[in-house]
Amino acid sequence: MTTKPERQHLLIDADDTLWENNIYFEEAFDNFVDFLDHSSMTAVEIRAVLDEIEIANIKTHGYGALNFGRNLAQCYERLSEREISEPDLRQAMSFAKQILECPMELIEGVSETLEYLSGRHELTLFTKGHPEEQRLKIDRSGLGPYFSHTAIVREKHSKAYATLARERTLDPDRTWMVGNSPKSDINPALAAGLNAVYIPHPRTWVLEKEEVQHGKGRLIVLENFSALRSYF
Ligand SMILES: [Mg+2]
Repeated sequence: MTTKPERQHLLIDADDTLWENNIYFEEAFDNFVDFLDHSSMTAVEIRAVLDEIEIANIKTHGYGALNFGRNLAQCYERLSEREISEPDLRQAMSFAKQILECPMELIEGVSETLEYLSGRHELTLFTKGHPEEQRLKIDRSGLGPYFSHTAIVREKHSKAYATLARERTLDPDRTWMVGNSPKSDINPALAAGLNAVYIPHPRTWVLEKEEVQHGKGRLIVLENFSALRSYF
């Protein structure tokens, strides 16, 4: 695009697009590894077991810090070389609960860029996860007022994009999903016939990583959130 387009619908991801999120989960995992204090398993091997538990549990319980705590407790049960006790399970879970108390750290340039974009386009916050946890983060971020609509869903698959587009009567040609996750933001939006703006985050959760697959829509890859200004 050489000239800025007329009014567009921008669907914008939250975690690791607007604010830091996964770094806190990584921190919780590091604390968990210290506490587990395994005699032979490396952090990478422990992570592989946790990933397996997470993939199985996401289907029934979804995402979020409290679910992550449950997953850590299960991982502890499976791997601990000590006798399993209630206090130790609670301790394993507590590393995840601390995530809820972490300060909201907005990613550089986000506030100013949202202010600029909200004056020219229609912004929808589109996030997945535990509804209460996500709502709380939106409130604490102070970014809510830039968005004319917020949608929190269990999973951001292509059906979720199609449903959102239908319910909000979005014109696919003028609708873009902006986010850091190929798996939840870029590929399903393109598959649903929308356009996408991929802004990679170096600390993206491993379960969100995927090869970007081109679809019908247009794809823009940007280095940072502020760069949206040049296109919109
Ligand atoms: Mg994200």
